[in-house]
Amino acid sequence: MASRMLVTHALPYANGSLHLGHMVESVQTDVFVRAMNAMGKECIFICADDTHGTPIEISARNAGVAPEEWIEKVHRDHAEDYKAFGIDFDLFYTTHSPENEMHARRIFEALRADAAVEKRDVLQIYCGVDKRFLPDRYIRGQCPVCGTKDQYGDSCENCGSTYEPTDLKDPRCAICGNTSLERRTSPHYFVKLSKYQEWLRRWTAGEGRLQPEIRNFVDKWLAEPLRDWDISRDAPYFGFLIPGETAKYFYVWLDAPVGYLSSTDKWCQDHGRHVEEFWGKDADCDVVHFIGKDIVYFHTLFWPAMLHASRWKEPARVHVHGMLTVEGAKMSKSRGTFLNVRDYLEAGLDPEWIRYFFASNLGPTASDIDLSLVELKNRVNGELLANVGNLANRALSLVWKNGGRLTRAAASGAFEQARAVEREIAELYARCDTRSVVQKVLDFSSAANQRLQAQKPWERLKDDRDAALAELTQAVNVARLCARWLSPIVPRFAAGVEEQSGAELRWGDFKPLENVPIREPRPLVRKVEDADIQRLSSRFVAPPAPGGPPAEVPRSPPAKAVPGAVVTPELSVEQFAQMDLRAGKVLSAERVPKKDKLLKLSIDLGEPQPRTIVSGVAQSYAPEELVGKTICVVANLPAKNFGKGLVSHGMILFASGGAREHTAIELPGDVTPGSQVK
Ligand SMILES: [Zn+2]
Ligand SMILES: [Zn+2]
Repeated sequence: MASRMLVTHALPYANGSLHLGHMVESVQTDVFVRAMNAMGKECIFICADDTHGTPIEISARNAGVAPEEWIEKVHRDHAEDYKAFGIDFDLFYTTHSPENEMHARRIFEALRADAAVEKRDVLQIYCGVDKRFLPDRYIRGQCPVCGTKDQYGDSCENCGSTYEPTDLKDPRCAICGNTSLERRTSPHYFVKLSKYQEWLRRWTAGEGRLQPEIRNFVDKWLAEPLRDWDISRDAPYFGFLIPGETAKYFYVWLDAPVGYLSSTDKWCQDHGRHVEEFWGKDADCDVVHFIGKDIVYFHTLFWPAMLHASRWKEPARVHVHGMLTVEGAKMSKSRGTFLNVRDYLEAGLDPEWIRYFFASNLGPTASDIDLSLVELKNRVNGELLANVGNLANRALSLVWKNGGRLTRAAASGAFEQARAVEREIAELYARCDTRSVVQKVLDFSSAANQRLQAQKPWERLKDDRDAALAELTQAVNVARLCARWLSPIVPRFAAGVEEQSGAELRWGDFKPLENVPIREPRPLVRKVEDADIQRLSSRFVAPPAPGGPPAEVPRSPPAKAVPGAVVTPELSVEQFAQMDLRAGKVLSAERVPKKDKLLKLSIDLGEPQPRTIVSGVAQSYAPEELVGKTICVVANLPAKNFGKGLVSHGMILFASGGAREHTAIELPGDVTPGSQVK
């Protein structure tokens, strides 16, 4: 490991507000940076708004302002939201900066000097009314595969096919509605990514570079020749002109990641440092990118290739986190499960609650995490408050009422163990396994609470004051250890313990704090009330929890000592691979007498005999509605007996949240029964 670290957070797009999903990454990255700094590493935290591209150009035009003005307003909002959540960037800059233009051009020139850039004609759709080429998302028309109307120019929401916009039937301009669109050619610049394919294979295989499950799908991309990457867009566009061109711009994805480098450069200029200290080929620095699952291709293929071609240092590590679901459902405006950061703040909820909640759910893998408001309440109240907070508050309050000074600490063995615990916690932070960090701290704090409960110093204050105060001093010191280990996650909570106990919390310090005055204790964090949850949930309406067809996926047991809390179960890749999902064609369907929820289906799975599968969806589908559909079946479940000779040999997958309670996951009719779904 290098002695210095540069950590980046994915650049938020300057086209709208931050939502709670953004905060998963913000919290994870901020916690990592704070932990690294606490452990004495120099760790710089860089981010910027991603400000270019057609959507921003169009939003600004619709708002009647210049794009520069638009992105400035968004930048102010983003900066405020991050600040409110304690996201402590060293610099939150912008990609619309002179530094970024200079670095983007240099990288482009380096790619060109490396003979990796090619210019060739591209056939595109052009709107004569708007006088512009239309990006895929700005063309709508009929899907060339299944015929569904009003689909985007790149993919069909109904059948999932992807295609070229020129394949759409009856295309129209999504900006002005013009239906007589033209096809025109325009020369574009392409990066021949395959030129770096061998190098990328070696780079992605580097130790600690990618999480194993991410490496798996990057390997799949690398198994095929990489496609050339179109890095240019025609005017009108908001971005940087390509050198030597007057109406061609860099595609936003060319200059966005360059924002990491150029924002570091800006920070260095402001602090009398040099960008080479962080990004120089031989710099004693590890560059670590935190990103979401949706932008892996850009960060593991395009971006390292760009850095490699232009002789910068490539990232040491790309860490991918999962997505956020809300109350078990995808965040969606139409389903009312969408929540902006502003909503959370305006409802008067404490950002440290969400920091604690996300950190206690996030592990080292890219598994999705679910925001359940009941779990948020249980975890904050039952763990942070009732365990660590209670230890600190109870001990400090008793000391305050009995002289207000720590004395010598009773020997409890806690400090002897602390060194080893801190080493483990440091490793867990480095792996982004904050879920385990929280568990370790809670265990350590629980032991001290139990000891306090057994020793009962409050009963002994009269008769054996010295021993009682020594016991309380010991408890304050354990609370100080716990607060310092949690400080990257809940910095305000930790600062409260630090302030009230009267001395700084320092990692690597294993001497108990003794014989010093303390300050008056006050609550370290507010309790989550039902009213808080109600105020927040009134800002979104989640669909009812899915009742679900008969067979349920087992959930893991509730978290330790927190009644009602549910831990989102995490599946290993191996466990997932054990699930046999198949395409099945429904041959017949009938109701089950006296069971008004059940349908008995006969399904062709490409086996010699059709299977009987019983499914609890009779209230969502009339039997005849399912016949003829090709659907998704879990084929390797044990048989389930419904009595009276009715046995089910599998389960059908349904989605909740649609117009029906259960919506069958339908596959296109040309998928052969028995085909694997994976
Ligand atoms: Zn389609
Ligand atoms: Zn148009």
